[in-house]
Amino acid sequence: MKTSSVKLKSQLRHESEKCCLESCSNDDPEEEPPGKRSMSDDPEEEPPGKAAAIRYRFFGDIPDGVWNNWKWQFRNRVTRVEQLTQFIPLSAEEQAQLRLVTMRYPLAVTPYYLSLINPDDPDDPIRKQAIPSTVEMTMGSMGAEDPLDEKKDTVVPGLIHRYPDRVLLVLTDICPVLCRHCTRKREWRNGGWVRSPAEVEAMLAYISQHKAIRDVIISGGDPLTLSTPHLEYIISRIRGIKHVEIIRIGTRFPVVLPQRIDNELCSMLAKYGPIWLNTHFNHVREITPEAAAACDRLLRSGIPVNNQSVLLRGINDSVEAQTELCHGLLKIKVRPYYLFQCDEVQGTEHLRTPVEVGIKIIEGMRGHTSGLAIPTFVIDLPQGGGKVPLQPDYVLAQTEGELMLRNYEGRIFHYRNPAKPAYPELPAEMLCPASSATVSPPQENRVPVRVRRSSKCV
Ligand code: SF4
Repeated sequence: MKTSSVKLKSQLRHESEKCCLESCSNDDPEEEPPGKRSMSDDPEEEPPGKAAAIRYRFFGDIPDGVWNNWKWQFRNRVTRVEQLTQFIPLSAEEQAQLRLVTMRYPLAVTPYYLSLINPDDPDDPIRKQAIPSTVEMTMGSMGAEDPLDEKKDTVVPGLIHRYPDRVLLVLTDICPVLCRHCTRKREWRNGGWVRSPAEVEAMLAYISQHKAIRDVIISGGDPLTLSTPHLEYIISRIRGIKHVEIIRIGTRFPVVLPQRIDNELCSMLAKYGPIWLNTHFNHVREITPEAAAACDRLLRSGIPVNNQSVLLRGINDSVEAQTELCHGLLKIKVRPYYLFQCDEVQGTEHLRTPVEVGIKIIEGMRGHTSGLAIPTFVIDLPQGGGKVPLQPDYVLAQTEGELMLRNYEGRIFHYRNPAKPAYPELPAEMLCPASSATVSPPQENRVPVRVRRSSKCV
């Protein structure tokens, strides 16, 4: 294979952004700078598929051992437009414009996630999620900085208490990739922070004092940017609070840096279950062998993995794109959980779709694929109103005794609505007998009721 070389080392060894990896030192002898290959015109050198195009072209000489080291990936994130031009063709004018955009909305993308982009396709669905666009600024007046009004429900710094039984811990604003559609884009300008020990103690004290809290969601930024020991300290303290039943982790690492989901992390999480992990795949091309292996490691450690995707214009806003995504998720045993309407965040308007698009997508999936593959489409209401599910309307008319319904094919059915109970309610002891028996009905019911052993009873 013929290749020519370019020097990318200096561009990729950025240290400008604060890193929260306590053990993120630069002295690992295994670690090599990213590869020195340049873009080649030789058609023989094209990879078989579009995915991994950039790894093939630019990181081909990085040994797998280094490429799969998540700390190397994290440290070598592309954060400047000058670096980006090594991988993605950008005119001088585009570069100048993107520099302006990144002054307001910074850029960060891991070599791994970058490698999934087809650099020759300006409409690549992964590129649109990770690479800045001038429309972030030109449409930047639309929307709000904090549309969900999270500040209003912040009870101590980093702890949002909106619903009675749940709290959200925001431990850091650092993420491996800065997604262009992020709801917390407002945090990016703050330069990378991690909650101090005193702030964490205040959050833990609040949770301890509020016995209604049974569900703690650890989010960010991305909480898995913290080192595993740091994360273990916080998770173990939460698990020590008796009224907390479940812990949830919101993370995009399985998608943008799956190497982070290593055995050390999985073994640690396995100790503090039940822990549920919600991740964020938006396109089927993100479901790579590496991402599938990361989800598999989590599942084998007893951590269920759900997916919360965001509906994004030009990325996944069709029935086909969502069906492919959800089928791909089921194949790796990840449950499609939510499809979010993209929040009204400043700098994301170009990625938002009309609400009808989401409803049409759900309608186009219902009946054509398993219900297991269909996420719940939700709007997270502004001003902290919470999530509202939206469904196609299948009820055409309703009277007291009947509903007129349409099915997924548009055929119309009449359904008798049993508005009043057919029988008086049975006493509880009759609902789960030791064996089949004929029991006496209440006096007013003259029809003998045959009660069978139910599979739910055994
Ligand atoms: S990983 Fe989540 S929190 Fe981080 S930038 Fe992406 S959407 Fe925002």
